[in-house]
Amino acid sequence: MWGGGRRSRPEGLSEKLHLPTVWGGRPKAGWGAPDLNLLLYGAPGSGKGTQANMLREKFGIPHIATGDMLRAEIAAGTDLGKQAQPILAAGKYVSDDIMIGIVRSRLTQPDCKPGFIMDGFPRTVPQARALDDLMTDLGKRFDRVIYLKVPIEELLERLSGRLVCPRCQRTYPPGTAACAVDGSELVQREDDKPEAVRPRIEIYLEKTVPVLDHYRVGGLVSEIDGRGTIEEISRQVLAAASAPGARRPHPQARVKA
Ligand code: ADP
Repeated sequence: MWGGGRRSRPEGLSEKLHLPTVWGGRPKAGWGAPDLNLLLYGAPGSGKGTQANMLREKFGIPHIATGDMLRAEIAAGTDLGKQAQPILAAGKYVSDDIMIGIVRSRLTQPDCKPGFIMDGFPRTVPQARALDDLMTDLGKRFDRVIYLKVPIEELLERLSGRLVCPRCQRTYPPGTAACAVDGSELVQREDDKPEAVRPRIEIYLEKTVPVLDHYRVGGLVSEIDGRGTIEEISRQVLAAASAPGARRPHPQARVKA
């Protein structure tokens, strides 16, 4: 399903959040939709998926979540899925070569033309460099990198016992019975089990924290405190995605003008 296929959304989320209208409502992908490329950065459990859903709903651009893509491969029993399953269960990273290949083929699909929300990639500096090259090849650039900052102790607490909807991938705190959006029975992700949570945070600190510096150099990072209510965080994320500087013309556009 490659991440972009998750079209369900919480009933009235925009209304609940009182989100400002950006570019006149909720554009759908295609002609007239925004050319907005966003990168969500943060540790496991920082709330990237929740904010990506909000942004997807608001801007009508696909959410590309590499973790969801891998889980779809596992569920479908493909060769890649068989290879990835034990890696995910152990909280480790799938190889850069595989991930770069997956992202390359996803970003070249037509629904990404008007923009996309990248979540879970790049997770290593070589992935970040490969993504730079890929974006150049596609004539695109990131408008903003949104960093959801959450202290490690809180991440460990959030991930342990977290439940997920197997249908729409929304996450819920322990004890929640069913998905508020589609009513599905919630399950625990294999890598949210205690033995995988700590390795995921450790590998994040080792391999993924340096990725932030890669983007800080370009002045693209908006740092947002990932603690607080979903509504408060969503307002800040939306403001960052719509901030001046997030809408700079692309170099190619300047050449043409
Ligand atoms: P989280 O960010 O909460 O750990 P994800 O759903 O983004 O969850 O990813 C789940 C798992 O999928 C990761 O722990 C890793 O094993 C694998 N994965 C996802 N994206 C990448 C990537 N860019 N590089 C390597 N492995 C990845």
